[in-house]
Amino acid sequence: MFKRILIANRGEIALRVIRACRELDIESVVVYSKADANAPWLDLADDAICIGPAPSAKSYLSIPNIISAAEIANVDAIHPGYGFLSENAHFAEICRSSNIEFIGPSVDAIHRMGNKSEAKAAAKKAGVPLVEGSDGPVASEAVALETARKIGYPVLIKAVSGGGGRGMRVAHNDISLVNSLLSAQAEAEAAFGDPSVYLEKYLEAPRHVEIQIVGDRRGEVVHLGERDCSIQRRHQKVVEEAPSPALSPDLRKKMGRAAVRLAKEVGYHGAGTVEFLVQGKEFCFIEVNARIQVEHPVTEMLTRVDLVKTQILVAAGEPLPFKQDDITFEGHAIECRINAEDPDRGFAPSPGLITVYAAPGGPGVRIDSHARAGYRIPPNYDSMIGKLIVHAADRDQAIRRMRRALDEYQIEGVKTTIPLLRRILGNSYFTAGDYSTRFLDQMLSAESSAR
Ligand code: ADP
Repeated sequence: MFKRILIANRGEIALRVIRACRELDIESVVVYSKADANAPWLDLADDAICIGPAPSAKSYLSIPNIISAAEIANVDAIHPGYGFLSENAHFAEICRSSNIEFIGPSVDAIHRMGNKSEAKAAAKKAGVPLVEGSDGPVASEAVALETARKIGYPVLIKAVSGGGGRGMRVAHNDISLVNSLLSAQAEAEAAFGDPSVYLEKYLEAPRHVEIQIVGDRRGEVVHLGERDCSIQRRHQKVVEEAPSPALSPDLRKKMGRAAVRLAKEVGYHGAGTVEFLVQGKEFCFIEVNARIQVEHPVTEMLTRVDLVKTQILVAAGEPLPFKQDDITFEGHAIECRINAEDPDRGFAPSPGLITVYAAPGGPGVRIDSHARAGYRIPPNYDSMIGKLIVHAADRDQAIRRMRRALDEYQIEGVKTTIPLLRRILGNSYFTAGDYSTRFLDQMLSAESSAR
């Protein structure tokens, strides 16, 4: 087992990994940028090393700075968290060639899953249903037009190397497709360093349902059920829950098996998520996230499996400590992402000093957050300051528990999305479980027309 792990991330996920290390008797060394020099999670790690100035490109994304820190700290492994370098195959390769284990899948699997059109090809080979679309990246305007006519409008232009819900464009006809294609390519090049794009049929009101998987280096892969992440803003998740109100036992079984087939097809080890869109009784693959996800606690509450500890164990070469039949699901879990954003200013980030902070507690409530009173949220990074997760015997009780916990949550000094979350949890479509990825836009536009 590892003796010391470097955590190449910040905020709540750095804290989450520190906690897993502590429970495993592994020392944790956390890196930080100058903007995070006084951050509260640094005190909880065994050591902390500054890796550069505030801009991520010069700190959390700087491979040489992170590798130097790892060498100085003499660690056995690096946990990349999510975002930043977590799905960077080049980084994983450099770690391993420096004799430092990268806590994640193989370089080849990261590479193949990071390229969405290769991931779709692997899914097809594994017999996993796909959203209709182009065969690989679209090489020219003519191919794009031909594909769109074949699959029918509306179509979605997506970046092959995309992520974070960015750079997607819907086209409703030939003219908008031609107009959007060039700008989508330019945007993809600027954001992801790769201009290639592909086309998918744009589903009007799907649900986003994903399957958590975990595999070891011996080829064993287990799935840990689904998470419904359809409550989104600008293609980014806001509320997640499990079990999904939309899945029948039969569909759940099929999706779990499909995710495992795909993972085995690419020799996947570590934790990962296979994402699908669901419409009625049909499901189709969209992408794989080859890392731990923000919403992993939802699955941890339901299965009692610690996913971060499992990541560390399998990265150290241990076999999975459970088999598929050992995984059971109990009750219902919901997660709300707490973002420091101002809902009255188009959800603009709201960094600054947290003056009052009182987190909820009581039965079935979990908080994964680095926030506290006196913490100054820097303007340089993601606006998520924590996650509130509840677990209860069934969906109705989980909703009541989440409402109660949101009411207890007090954060002052910065604006947060808590008022928005309260409205979502009180919405009758949400409580009926009757929602798609369009839900939040529809709720917000209904609210603004009522004003
Ligand atoms: P990213 O990697 O940028 O997060 P995804 O492929 O995971 O991109 O898609 C993010 C979200 O965009 C999905 O959860 C869904 O809401 C929406 N989306 C993606 N593909 C489609 C599609 N073909 N039709 C409709 N919505 C889609």
